[in-house]
Amino acid sequence: MFNIIVLGAPGCGKGTQSANIIHKYGLTHISTGEILREEVELHTAIGSVVKTFIDKGFLVPDDIIMQEILINTSIQDQTKGLLFDGFPRTLFQADYLDDLLMQKKSKISLVLQLEVDKNELYNRILNRSKDSQRSDDKLETIHKRLEVYYEQTFPLIDYYKKQGKLHIVSSMAPVKDVFKKIADIIDYNLNLI
Ligand code: AMP
Repeated sequence: MFNIIVLGAPGCGKGTQSANIIHKYGLTHISTGEILREEVELHTAIGSVVKTFIDKGFLVPDDIIMQEILINTSIQDQTKGLLFDGFPRTLFQADYLDDLLMQKKSKISLVLQLEVDKNELYNRILNRSKDSQRSDDKLETIHKRLEVYYEQTFPLIDYYKKQGKLHIVSSMAPVKDVFKKIADIIDYNLNLI
């Protein structure tokens, strides 16, 4: 299996580029944000708990995330590979993912860190909020989500750098130019296996 993680701050284009990657390479998309929003929309018991965290811009507790990841990865054993979008978000989750994949005799093949200037992140999320129905695309929640990102998710860059898996990609250019750079990195790494 060829497994990829797409990392980056809220608004960096993770969702858009993840969609491009799965379309070109036939990977299975695992977006914890989408999984959680679906729980909220379906009014499940988990949905009512996670809504309180999402609406405030906080991370959802690790035990709920692990449960969702376990379910969503176990039904995907036949896939060419998994693309994790918005997961992991804490060092605890990163360790959990490494262990889980090891049990499946698999591993993370590469990590893409999409980088965008802070001002541009605000512009993108506020622009998206005009069309999206997302309850967390509001100015006050965006501040919190960015703060949480720099405190809890940013350390993952070092975690994956130490594993020799990190590729930093500037996501300031037009979507198709960014995707070209991403595809070059993926193609190069696919040729190595
Ligand atoms: P996203 O769509 O990835 O921006 O996620 C939206 C919100 O869902 C985040 O602000 C968190 O509240 C929650 N969330 C998504 N993925 C995770 C995760 N891996 N760990 C904790 N909370 C998450």
